[in-house]
Amino acid sequence: MNDKPFFDIKDLKKVQSDHHFEFSVDLCYSGRKAFVRPLKIKDKKELLKAIESKDEKLVQKVLDEIILKYVELEDNRPLDDLTVQERYQILAEIRRAASGDTIKIVHQCPNCEHLNKDLIFDLKNIIIKPYDFNIENKISLFNGNVEIVLGPLRREEEKKIEKIIFDKKIQSTSERQFLLMAGFIQNVFIKKDDIYGEVKLKTEEKIEFFENLSSSELDKIIDYIKKSDYGVKLPFHFKCEKCSYENTQEEANVAVFFIS
Ligand SMILES: [Zn+2]
Repeated sequence: MNDKPFFDIKDLKKVQSDHHFEFSVDLCYSGRKAFVRPLKIKDKKELLKAIESKDEKLVQKVLDEIILKYVELEDNRPLDDLTVQERYQILAEIRRAASGDTIKIVHQCPNCEHLNKDLIFDLKNIIIKPYDFNIENKISLFNGNVEIVLGPLRREEEKKIEKIIFDKKIQSTSERQFLLMAGFIQNVFIKKDDIYGEVKLKTEEKIEFFENLSSSELDKIIDYIKKSDYGVKLPFHFKCEKCSYENTQEEANVAVFFIS
């Protein structure tokens, strides 16, 4: 009897699709691990096509698909749990794993808006700043009658806000950033007869609540967002080829970094 196994393409495919993680990332917010598989050529091509279309929405969609296919979280946590900064951290690490010591990046000058191409970024300069859980994230509003708990923006919430921005045809960058800030609201509590009760808000309701804050109340939220700044930092020495603006601590854009 011949019991020599017979192998075919199905076995090859199985080996290819079996869990084969190239590296793990310690996530900057949760402190837990994400496991990453090496990027396949066909998905790289898909991403390049999206970039060439200059459709930001499509690029983000393809990046989400890449995360879905290539990343698994510790304890099988859902990928929607990732914060926006953790998502960028994973993308930056995928980029780093696929490159040598340096990469060429594109950077828009903050002074004259000229697009500087082929700038050299040294991959040793990537900084991952972990989230500081000691930062006060509870804010009291309306003479203590409302309390809100703030926390990092999660990708799931960002996607919902992006949809609202798209539906409302909002173009201005400052207005987009304003709406995205509403996504930092995690819980809202109202005081009634000296007892605080939570009010569950949908994304649109968070935005509505946010739009009705006074500027001093809004400042408290902005203050938290500034203090809690964390995640991937890409500092480099930048000198604009057009206007000579110079900054030794310029920061590269993470999304641009991933696709450069
Ligand atoms: Zn410039």
